[in-house]
Amino acid sequence: MEIPLSQYLIRASTKLAQLSPSAHADVEALAMHVCGLDRAGLITRGLYALTPEQVQRLDTLLRRRASGEPIAYLTGQREFWSLDLKVTPQTLIPRPETELLVELALARIPDQAAWNIADLGTGSGAVALALACERPRCRLVATDVSNTALAVARENARRHGLDRVIFREGSWFTALSGERFELLVCNPPYVREDDPHLDAGDVRFEPDLALRAGPDGLDAIRKVAAGAQKHLEPGAWLLLEHGYDQAQAVREILIRDGYRDCTSYRDLAGHVRVSAGQRARGG
Ligand code: GLN
Repeated sequence: MEIPLSQYLIRASTKLAQLSPSAHADVEALAMHVCGLDRAGLITRGLYALTPEQVQRLDTLLRRRASGEPIAYLTGQREFWSLDLKVTPQTLIPRPETELLVELALARIPDQAAWNIADLGTGSGAVALALACERPRCRLVATDVSNTALAVARENARRHGLDRVIFREGSWFTALSGERFELLVCNPPYVREDDPHLDAGDVRFEPDLALRAGPDGLDAIRKVAAGAQKHLEPGAWLLLEHGYDQAQAVREILIRDGYRDCTSYRDLAGHVRVSAGQRARGG
């Protein structure tokens, strides 16, 4: 028997409300996914009837959501910088605050520049693909230690016709051989091992490799800051995302490693989220 979508939505969000703080939005996202509807289609939902097969698929997804699985993994997609990206449990779910990293990079890359740019630890490819999209003459190299993440990133590049992004497997700088870049961007893992937020919400389902970075959460940032100098052209910038309470520590690392003009920037939520350091021109 067919069930009107509007009726299903009300019933399902009431049920999910005890288990998810975003129950209404969750149910809508899953329904759009299963029914192949966009938001406009969902608004005219009174006209739509769910087949028994769709009801069954939705029921299964809602059960998984009720046990905590992130919506992005259930639908297999997340939007970042207006790009519809495939995501899987092998990739971090792109976050809105990471758009700050893209903005700060774009502010440094002249419109018509044909720069060599690297994105270290690209995951789903979000940052590299956003930059490639905005700066068509730049050459982007995106690396990741996880080849399953890189397979997702490659598929995202294909999906958006951004085949000029070059993907390389390897931990941090091992994938870059001797190359130098006009800009390095990186959203590394930066969560402290004992951070209680690792035990709640979506992060429980995300790859450890993309989240955890030692006792103070700075292990990866220290490695990247130390290694980046050799891969930056004189005067080129390194841009690093970090935790809301790590800006000062990150700037100290950058300064100690010889970077100039070390500055931190706030995301839209007001958290100091990205720090930048410039390789000395003469050094
Ligand atoms: N911002 C993420 C979180 O706190 C962490 C992402 C990262 O480590 N790069 O959940």
